[in-house]
Amino acid sequence: MNYEAVIGLEIHVELKTESKIFCGCRAAFGAEPNTHVCPVCLGLPGTLPVLNRRAVEYAIMAALALNCEITPYCKFDRKNYFYPDLPKNYQISQFDLPLARNGYLEIDTPSGPKRVGIVRLHLEEDAGKLVHVQYGDSSYALVDYNRAGVPLIEIVSAPDLRSPEEARAYAEKLRQIMLYLGISDCKMEEGSLRVDANVSVRPAGSDILGVKTEIKNVNSFRSLARALTYEIERHIACLERGEEIVQETRAWDEERGITFSMRSKEEAHDYRYFPEPDLPPLVIDAEWVESLRKALPELPDAKRRRFIEEYGLPENAATVLTATPEVADYFEETLKFYPQPRQVANWVMGELARCLNAAGIPITASPVKPQALAQLLKLIDAGTISGKIAKDVFEEMFATGKDAESIVKEKGLTQITDEEVIRQVVREVIAANPKVVADYKGGKEKALSFLVGQVMKATRGRANPGLVNQLLKEELSRE
Ligand SMILES: [Zn+2]
Repeated sequence: MNYEAVIGLEIHVELKTESKIFCGCRAAFGAEPNTHVCPVCLGLPGTLPVLNRRAVEYAIMAALALNCEITPYCKFDRKNYFYPDLPKNYQISQFDLPLARNGYLEIDTPSGPKRVGIVRLHLEEDAGKLVHVQYGDSSYALVDYNRAGVPLIEIVSAPDLRSPEEARAYAEKLRQIMLYLGISDCKMEEGSLRVDANVSVRPAGSDILGVKTEIKNVNSFRSLARALTYEIERHIACLERGEEIVQETRAWDEERGITFSMRSKEEAHDYRYFPEPDLPPLVIDAEWVESLRKALPELPDAKRRRFIEEYGLPENAATVLTATPEVADYFEETLKFYPQPRQVANWVMGELARCLNAAGIPITASPVKPQALAQLLKLIDAGTISGKIAKDVFEEMFATGKDAESIVKEKGLTQITDEEVIRQVVREVIAANPKVVADYKGGKEKALSFLVGQVMKATRGRANPGLVNQLLKEELSRE
């Protein structure tokens, strides 16, 4: 039988606010344990939460970017459960009236663009973090409450995804949009973007949903795709054997490449939601939403379309150059000094990307700034250096931070455009390679490129390639 997978994702995004959602404690990652805590975020008796306006703004921005309807009158609820990382024994979240609903996100699939529904987007506070330690024969759990109260948005997709690849594309696209909005740093390895996946399988074409399992603890998009692939195959194998699938929460073991059961439905929590009595309902007026909508930055899809139309770039180049706002900014900044989109695109995606990868640094830390790259490209156009030499110059610029002109001057890399100088070398090369010359005259076109190579070698790559070709042909026809 043919099966079809049904996947929905729940993505938690930590918002990059200065302070936490209900108190003034710093929300930054990486501080000494339990140094960013106060009675409010520890939930001590008698304390009252005060909502952080910036967190709501960020959540509205995310909702608008995901084409959601904003709920004009929403509220907060207590989600009750007991766990050591949750000092209050309840989490302030949103239940029946989330901040936003009914949105969508468009992803690219091999069969074209696809709209994935977004069921809801709500605000909540993050919990603390458990650190498990081994000491001799004993193991302990230590708890760090710095993260308790950091603002989160939870974005729940419709079960519209049909393959691990689609799930990955959706999660990556969502992350890209959050980065463009500047509302989260989205670092999966630091937990500021966390993905839970719900998956079930059913006979292809069926409308009935199969029993689903939930996968937690994936910490990269690659793991997400791997975990889903594993889980889908596990479901199919179960059904083929005539077994029932147990509705449960499973964890992903990256090293072994398998999912394993964490807890079954019987142990599932009954959260006993009820309205948070310490916070007034949240009234979001339309004017506020409109002012935020106007202030939204250009989003990835719009930027990609503009790069294609305005700069005449091929689609794949436009995709690469709009992968992050930083890459797009670098590209457009370079164009201010050197308005040749295709050339700039080739260098940003080619030499620059290669050097950044090798050095393991982001484009914002590139030692070669946009203006310096533009200057290098102008030297090629002016015929001062060849395109090939320019690559060496670029590497030197990247390694030393020096500008192109000084490197070209210091190393004597100026292109040789003097006909007489090149003609002399051409004659020497012809004289030294009688057999190759005979081959060429016998009709072997390839022999010419060997001779060109020899001239370039003799001039350390500095000869103007066009002139070398032209003069070689001239000299060869003369004999
Ligand atoms: Zn606090």
